[in-house]
Amino acid sequence: MSSPVLSMHGVEKSFGLFRALGPVDLDLMPQERLGIIGPNGAGKTTLINCITGVLKPDSGSVEFEGADITAQPSFKRARLGISRTFQIPQPFRGMTVTENLLVPLDYLHGTTNKHRRAAEVLDSVGLSARAAHPSEDLSQLELRKLELARALVGNPKVLIADEAMAGLSEAEIDEVLAILMRLNQQGVAVIMIEHIMHAVMRFSQRIVCFEMGQLIASGTAEEVTRDPKVQKVYFGEQAHH
Ligand code: ADP
Ligand code: MG
Repeated sequence: MSSPVLSMHGVEKSFGLFRALGPVDLDLMPQERLGIIGPNGAGKTTLINCITGVLKPDSGSVEFEGADITAQPSFKRARLGISRTFQIPQPFRGMTVTENLLVPLDYLHGTTNKHRRAAEVLDSVGLSARAAHPSEDLSQLELRKLELARALVGNPKVLIADEAMAGLSEAEIDEVLAILMRLNQQGVAVIMIEHIMHAVMRFSQRIVCFEMGQLIASGTAEEVTRDPKVQKVYFGEQAHH
């Protein structure tokens, strides 16, 4: 039995009096593919923000490879190997695709040849042909790939994809899934937060469902789909979302 690459113990986060998350206990194993589902407002992004250090939990702890990182700022967690994509792609306007990768590369240690690393990553997401183009020229799929590339320049051990496939066609979803699957086979643990059910079900070895900040179910795609609590969230209260 290996030990988790990432673990959360009793993580809680409130905004004012409103508890958006927790307490949550959740482990991620090395090279695991974990899906996170749940309706809008369930606390998924808040959880990710607590993992990446954008938010500091009110209580509880986050561990990476056995070390407590709860007090570490985002950039240190990124250097350790925790990386994420944003729900809304946020390319640097007025810069080329390659330049968009040089910016995060500047924040990371140990990258000797930044241009070579940028080229490698663009190749791995299938964006090489667009390297010299301004980010404004990119299609929705290419923007999603650039968002992935920016998360990958530091060679993360954990990649968190927050709704990385929203707005894509079926063929494009398949393409992003293939990229994520290949990265996973190269050793990266992936957390996929996704509303596109067939994609997250197909990709994930394990799925957890959140509702109102609580983890309400955990299991294989089949187990979670059959779980009455999950069915209630998705089919029983449709009028609410
Ligand atoms: P999800 O990603 O599952 O849709 P979020 O984590 O974004 O959910 O949000 C969980 C809840 O916390 C929502 O009710 C949201 O409105 C609230 N929330 C998230 N971020 C903030 C914030 N910075 N300030 C106040 N409320 C927030
Ligand atoms: Mg979200």
